[in-house]
Amino acid sequence: MTSPVWHPYQRLNPRPEQDPAVPRVIGGEGPYFYLEGGERLLDACCSWWCMIHGYRHPRLVRAIAEQADTLSHVMLAGLTHDPAEQLARALVRVTPEGLNHVFFIDSGSVGMEVAMKMALQYHILTGRPEKTRMLALKRGYHGDTSGCMAVCDPESGMHRLFSPLLPRHHFAPAPTAPFDAAPEDVEDDLAGLRAVLEQHHHEIAALLMEPLLQAAGGLNMTSPHYLCGARELCDEFNVLLVFDEVATGFGRTGKMFAANHAEVTPDIMVLSKGLTGGYLGHAATLATDRIHDAFRGESDRHAFMHGPTFMGNPLACRVALESLAVFEEEHYLEKIARLSRVLTRELCEDAELAAHPAVADVRVLGAAAVIEVYEAADLDGLRDFARARGVWLRAFKNYLYTMPAYITTEAEMVTITDVMKAWFLAHSGLLARLGKAERDAQVQQRQRAQ
Ligand SMILES: *Cc1c(COP(=O)(O)O)cnc(C)c1O
Repeated sequence: MTSPVWHPYQRLNPRPEQDPAVPRVIGGEGPYFYLEGGERLLDACCSWWCMIHGYRHPRLVRAIAEQADTLSHVMLAGLTHDPAEQLARALVRVTPEGLNHVFFIDSGSVGMEVAMKMALQYHILTGRPEKTRMLALKRGYHGDTSGCMAVCDPESGMHRLFSPLLPRHHFAPAPTAPFDAAPEDVEDDLAGLRAVLEQHHHEIAALLMEPLLQAAGGLNMTSPHYLCGARELCDEFNVLLVFDEVATGFGRTGKMFAANHAEVTPDIMVLSKGLTGGYLGHAATLATDRIHDAFRGESDRHAFMHGPTFMGNPLACRVALESLAVFEEEHYLEKIARLSRVLTRELCEDAELAAHPAVADVRVLGAAAVIEVYEAADLDGLRDFARARGVWLRAFKNYLYTMPAYITTEAEMVTITDVMKAWFLAHSGLLARLGKAERDAQVQQRQRAQ
């Protein structure tokens, strides 16, 4: 019988008999998970970038068990509890200076919905009710709910099908300057932002971005100078700056938050994925005093009308606190720096990989690395290839990436990068249909045509 489980982001086969067997996970330990039948796979993407401590971490497991024995859940409306209070304080402490207020929600998408509602209502309460649109970046991804779909990349994003349903927002070009760009190298990118703001600022409530690393948009990396410039533009045009740190938060870019690289405080910041170490779904939208205090007042318009059933769930808050304690006590930023050095050495400094005719670019930032290929078809069959070598790699479009758990050892990291490189060696004949120069020319032609 076919399974009643409907899996995400996957085309269904025309006939059920064609359905492939989906690997069945029965457990995990550290950076590995185990399949029924005895296979052990090294997870190169830590379950969509959230299992930063790996699987079955004893301290996180114990925290959930202890909390379940005390208080599994209680509503946060009109009540409070220690795990929510303590986690809110901890998040205020570790996030950039000035983000002093924490609104809990149950997922990253809903965190972004809350950020957008807060921004809009802030402008209503401060006398600018005409600011009802968002400004987002091309190649951005902010979640799968309707409000979020409307601010994901409208062309290359995955939600184009639903555009008739969605409100219209503004988009600026995706940043192109690399992480290590000089201040003058981000000027073009910032000019792109300024152009939209100059024309439409009167109706723009907030600028939304994944700071430094547009993750689902193909691990597009940019410079901290871009964040500084964006902050200045937002202040100039009375537009709120919202950082979606759902993917970048908790160390992925090499500092605790991407915002730390630029020493910028956004007006609103959204955290999820690594927040609970991946052990439970939860998220937090943080705001500065300026935003929060605009909601003080006596009219009905001052209430913030949002409240998911499971906001501030004690199990999630407790495991998030434990995750943060492990992160700090076990010096995770040093672990991330070590992983980053291995990724740079094994991928960026590999001349053979860079010269491979299928490879368009290789990038590393913190504990995130991507080999971008010219043609998505060049990655067909990669998942089975990696699985046969004991590694779980999920490439998407023309991006072969890894975002490992931070407890991944150097030897395990090399196992992952070796499999990534082996794919290109194994297919050097197949992929080399065209010379590199020819491919570059083709891509440029396509870009010009767009
Ligand atoms: C994953 C992700 C989201 C959505 O989070 P969910 O918890 O899956 O709803 C939003 N923004 C970014 C940058 C993400 O990577």
